[in-house]
Amino acid sequence: MNIPILIYHQIDAPPPRGTPLRGLIVAPSSFAWQMRMLRLMGYRGLSMPDLEPYLKGDKQGKVVGITFDDGYQNNLHHALPVLQQHGFTATCYGVSGEIGGTNRWDHGKVAAKPLMTVEEWRAWHDGGMDIGSHTRTHAQLIKIPAQAAREEITASRHELEQAVGCEVRHFCYPYGWYEPEHVQMVRDAGYTTATSSHRGRVHESADLFTLNRIMVARATNPLQFFMKIATSYEDRRG
Ligand SMILES: [Zn+2]
Repeated sequence: MNIPILIYHQIDAPPPRGTPLRGLIVAPSSFAWQMRMLRLMGYRGLSMPDLEPYLKGDKQGKVVGITFDDGYQNNLHHALPVLQQHGFTATCYGVSGEIGGTNRWDHGKVAAKPLMTVEEWRAWHDGGMDIGSHTRTHAQLIKIPAQAAREEITASRHELEQAVGCEVRHFCYPYGWYEPEHVQMVRDAGYTTATSSHRGRVHESADLFTLNRIMVARATNPLQFFMKIATSYEDRRG
């Protein structure tokens, strides 16, 4: 089993050259060819709940997980229509304390960008997409006391569920940072999967609470995209 789970952040026009982390903002036209390419390669793009039976080995097939971190408004505008066009689903991990806010945790490093409002999260969900949790404040879990970390992990789930009126069962560690105690907190909070930023595809008998992912960047070209999905290109790079 080699299941790629893609990480995206923003799908938007490029900011000026020299902008920090510009490489994480994927152009709408690139996202469009990437989804088209997945379909041409015979893959289905799936949200975490749709991917779960494949991760558990209960179903087999050519599938790719599609995830978005942070909950940018531009995901709704630029990614949702493309996903729908191909019959794909995706999970977007939201920061429950920043519904209708901005990526304040990046302040001073990356330009502030609007995050989805409650209405926009509902539109994302009504469009057939999944909502996961990315804590309340995009917390650096390994740098805060255990009780605060537990609160970030547990309360974010309930806040998102109440705000949007949907079930939230999938978690993503902010910055990809966690210790074993945080993995246990995620399990205790009732989530069924958690994604990290460890590179590579997901292999047989992987821990569902520390899932590998594959970053797609602004500069990712079609050959690299193909290699990331269909070969061990990412797996070998730790
Ligand atoms: Zn994040």
